[in-house]
Order: sequence, then C-alpha cells, then structure tokens
Amino acid sequence: MPENVQYCPLCHHETSRSFDTRQFRGHTVSNRVCAHCGLVYQSPRMTAAELDEFYAAEYRQVYQGEPGPILKDLQAQKGRAASLLEFVSASVPEVNRHLDIGCSAGILLTTFRDHYGDQPLGVEPGDSYRGYAQSQGLTIHADIADLPSNEPRVDLISMAHVLEHLPDPVGYLASLREKHLAPHGWLLLEVPNLYCHDSFEIAHLTSFSAHTLRQTVEQAGYEVVKLEAHGRPRSELLPLYLTLLARSANDGMVHPLQSEGNVAFKRRLGLLRRRVVQKLFPKKAWIA
Ligand SMILES: [Zn+2]
Repeated sequence: MPENVQYCPLCHHETSRSFDTRQFRGHTVSNRVCAHCGLVYQSPRMTAAELDEFYAAEYRQVYQGEPGPILKDLQAQKGRAASLLEFVSASVPEVNRHLDIGCSAGILLTTFRDHYGDQPLGVEPGDSYRGYAQSQGLTIHADIADLPSNEPRVDLISMAHVLEHLPDPVGYLASLREKHLAPHGWLLLEVPNLYCHDSFEIAHLTSFSAHTLRQTVEQAGYEVVKLEAHGRPRSELLPLYLTLLARSANDGMVHPLQSEGNVAFKRRLGLLRRRVVQKLFPKKAWIA
C-alpha cells in the first residue's frame, strides 16, 4: 500500500499543500508542495519495498510497454548521451573513472568512455537493461550496495533522469559524495523541469525546478558549477530538462537553504508557454 510522506524530502518540514492529482497509466498520482521550501513531491507514494519491486520488473513495461531495450529508446539515449557529453566536456578536461547510476543500456557510459578513455562502471536495477549493458562488455551492478568495498573512488558520477525517482535525494547524493566520489569529484545530473515537463508520473517522487534542484545538491554538500534548462535532444525551443554539473565541496560548508515562492504560478505559466510554443512552432517544439 502507498504511504504518506511525513516530511519534505528537502527541508524536512511537515506542512505541505495539495499541488496536483491525476491518473497515470492506471495509477493515481498525487503531488504536494512544501509550504516551507517550495519543493514539489509525490505523496502518498510507493513504499521502499514496492519501489524495489517496481524497478526490477514493472517499470519498463509501464513506461514503454516492453520489458527490454527497444530501438526507439536506445536512439533517444544516444541523443541524450551526446548532449550530456557536450555539457560536461566544456568544463571537465579529464575523467579517469566514471560511475553512471541508473545506467540503463549503458549508452552514456560508452559515449563518455569513447571521449575520455575512462573506466566505466554502472548501476542499473532493471534486469533486462542491465543484462543488455553487460552484454556490451560493461561492468554493471544491480544496486550501488553491490559495489565491492575495495572499489576505488570515481571522479565523475552521473545520474540522468534518476534523482526524481529517489525517496531521499539529499541523503542519496550526500552518501555518494561520502562513499564513492573522489575529493573535488564531479557530479552530473539531469531531471525533468517542473516548469515545462508534464513530470507527474508514478515513478517521479520529486519534481524539481532549477531552484529546488540547486538547493538539493547544495544541501548534499556540493558546489554547483553550472545549471542549464534546455530541450535537448527532443526540443529546440522548450526547456523540458534541467542539467547540472557540480563538484564535491570538501570544506564541510553547507549553504543555508533558500525557499522558492509562487511555485504553482510558475508551473502554470511554464505550461502555458509550452502550449503556445507548440502551437506556433510544432516542429521545433517537439522532436519525437
Ligand atoms: Zn521543504
């Protein structure tokens, strides 16, 4: 049975307001907005055990009607990987060890390896995608807890369209920094943009704006290097995604959390802009 979320995953305050309720492929999805910091998060939501089961078997089936990799999905992943490499390589000259969490078919890992000559390592809970990535010669674990204890730290951790799926994004990012990332190592994140993407899907436990994404990363002990709203590879005009590059801050300083206001208004305005742009420039607005 789904459980109510008692505390905001970002600021841990208890007070929230109803934000959106809808049906998503046979599931009722309810999102709330934190009255203190403005984070939008799903509640009630699946329990930890239900989430584990969902990702091992059901996720791909619910989202694309197939349990295993399909050509259309692999092509979309190639476009996204190329865009992420461009974003990172403009700021990061060298990568030796790359850990991609939620690595899917492993396309981001191989794209980065071909550029940097790094050693790739992946985590993918979905059985079928993990098997596909392993069949390409990659080292992929089902869970981050399965990484060998003597595994050396990596200098880049990436999570593309993963953070929004996690019950405790701040705690997870902090634990990556403490256990797996080298000092001053890089963190690459991409998530859907609350102010443009539909976003309210059963598997999205948090829906980030640029503001709340930055706060999440800073609370976990990172310094944001750059943060961009864009549509690559799907749209030339709509800022569907947020991509962020950060560095592990090793001075132990955590920035004070800054709240975001007018979240419902910004969401309405963003979706209105999207409708207008799609109407005026349908081809540039959405590249399927
Ligand atoms: Zn909050």
